[in-house]
Amino acid sequence: MYKFIMCIMCIHLYVLCLHTPFSVFQLFINNQWQDAVSGKTFPTINPATGEVICQVSEADQTDVDKAVKAARDAFKLGSPWRRMDASHRGLLLNRLADAIERDSAYLAELETLDNGKPYAVAYMVDLPNVVKCLRYYAGWADKWEGKTIPIDGDFFCYTRHEPVGVCGQIIPWNFPLLMQAWKLGPALATGNTVVMKVAEQTPLTALYVASLIKEVGFPEGVVNILAGMGPTAGAAIAKHMDVDKVAFTGSTEVGHLIQQASGSSNLKKVTLELGGKSPNIIMSDADMADAVEQAHFALFFNQGQCCCAGSRTYVQADVYDEFVERSVERANRRVVGNPFDLKTEQGPQVDQEQFNKILGYISSGKREGAKLMCGGGVAADRGYFIQPTVFGDVQDNMTIAREEIFGPVMQILKFKTIEEVVERANDTKYGLAAAVFTKDIDKANYVSNALRAGTVWINCYDVFGAQAPFGGYKASGNGRELGEYGLENYTEVKTVRNTHTHSNRRIP
Ligand code: NAP
Ligand code: MG
Repeated sequence: MYKFIMCIMCIHLYVLCLHTPFSVFQLFINNQWQDAVSGKTFPTINPATGEVICQVSEADQTDVDKAVKAARDAFKLGSPWRRMDASHRGLLLNRLADAIERDSAYLAELETLDNGKPYAVAYMVDLPNVVKCLRYYAGWADKWEGKTIPIDGDFFCYTRHEPVGVCGQIIPWNFPLLMQAWKLGPALATGNTVVMKVAEQTPLTALYVASLIKEVGFPEGVVNILAGMGPTAGAAIAKHMDVDKVAFTGSTEVGHLIQQASGSSNLKKVTLELGGKSPNIIMSDADMADAVEQAHFALFFNQGQCCCAGSRTYVQADVYDEFVERSVERANRRVVGNPFDLKTEQGPQVDQEQFNKILGYISSGKREGAKLMCGGGVAADRGYFIQPTVFGDVQDNMTIAREEIFGPVMQILKFKTIEEVVERANDTKYGLAAAVFTKDIDKANYVSNALRAGTVWINCYDVFGAQAPFGGYKASGNGRELGEYGLENYTEVKTVRNTHTHSNRRIP
C-alpha cells in the first residue's frame, strides 16, 4: 500500500514538474521571471540521493540592486501598493493562503524533494502552518492601529503605524516554506515591500510561491524573490543602502555579519532569529513515558535541524538511568529512510556540508568522553542519512553540550537539584527555547520563570502557533516573529501633533 502511494506521488511530482514553466527556477523580480544578469546558475540537490534536481538562476549584487529598485518603486507614494486599502492587502494575503492550500500536495512534494524532510511532515505540519500564518497576518492588515494621546496643550496627538519600507529577508533551509511565510506575513500585512533571498539548498518551493504571489494579484515589485549565495546575494541585501530593514534567520555566525553590515551601511533595522542550545529539563516526578517521547521529538524532529531543538536533555539523577535506557530504545526504533515513504520519521540531512559537520560533532563527543549509547554513523549508502544518535554521560563543557549540532544527535546530562539545573541550563550564550517536564506546578513555575529563553514549554515541546511570538534572548537573536509582537518589527511609529488652529480654547 505504502509503495503504491509512493509511486503515485512520484508520478504526480514528475508530471507537475513537466507542466511547471521552466521560468519558475529563474529569479522573481517585479513580477517577472528573469535570468541572473551574470547568466549564472547553480544546481539544487535532492539530499536523499545526492542527485541534481535542476538548475536555478544565481543572483548576485546586480540582481539584488534590480530587486531593491523594483521594491522601492513599488513602495513609492501613490503607487498601487501604497494606495491599496489595508483590507485589500489582507485579502491578497488570504488569497495567497488559499492558493498555497490548493497546491499543498505539490508544494509538500517539492519541499521533500529539495529539503529531504518526510513528505508526511511537509504535508501535515509545514504546509498547514504556512497557510495558517498567512491567514493570521491577513487578519491583522486592517487592525494594526495607532493611538490618540492626550499630550499637554491644545494639540491633537496621534500615532500612525507605517510600513518601514523595503525589507530584506534572508531565510534558511530547515523550514523553507514556513520561514518564507513567517517573513512575508507580517511584512505584507503592514504594507512593506520585500526582497527575499532563499537558502541555496532549498530554493524551489519559495520560487513556486512567487508564481502564486503573481497569480493572486500582488502588484509589481511588492515581493521579489532571489535564489543565490549568502556571501554574495545575502551580503548585498545586508549592506544595501536602500534597504530599510533586514530580517534574518540562520546561524549566529552570519547573524553577527548581518548586524555588522547594517552598522557599516545605513543602520537599517535588524531582526535576527539565530541558533540555540536549548535545555530540556526532566524532573524525576515527570510522566516518564511522555517525557521520553517528547524529549525524543524535541531533538529528532526535522532531522534535528531545528533552531529550538531540545539539544541538552537534563535528567534528574534518580530517573536518569531509566530515561537513558528508554530514550535509546526509542531512538533505535526511529524509522530512517526514503522521505517519500509515509512510514519514514527521519529523512536525510540537508546537504553534504551539514552531514560532514554532524559526523564531526559525533567524533568530538566520543573523543571528549561522552558515552555513545546508539547510532553514531551513516545510515545509508547514498544521500545524507545519519543514524539517530544518543550520547549519555555528557558534561556541560563538552563541545556537543555547547555548540549547535543541527542533526539527529541527542545529549543527555544528569542533574541533582532544581537550582543546580537552572544555573547550568542558563550557562550558554544562547537563549532561544527551553522546556521542563514535571507534574509539580511550583517546579514548573520556578523553572519557566528562571530560564533565560524566549520560549519555555511545560510538559510539551515544539508547540507553535502563528498567534504566539517566537524569538531569542542573548545570542539567539533580536526581536520576535509571529503574533502581534511580530508586527512591531515591520512598523515605524509616527507621532503626529496637530495644533487646533481654529480655536484658541482648550477643549477638555
Ligand atoms: P547560514 O549560512 O546562516 O544560512 C542562513 C541564510 O543566510 C542562507 O540564506 C544563507 O545563504 C545566508 N547567508 C550566508 N552567509 C551570508 C552572509 N555573509 N550575508 C548574508 N546572508 C548570508 O546557515 P547554514 O550555513 O545554512 O547553516 C549553518 C548552521 O546554522 C547550521 O548548522 C545551524 O547550526 C544554523 N542554522 C540555524 C537555523 C535557524 O533556524 N536558526 C537555520 C539554518 C541553519 P546560503 O543559502 O548561501 O547559505
Ligand atoms: Mg536542495
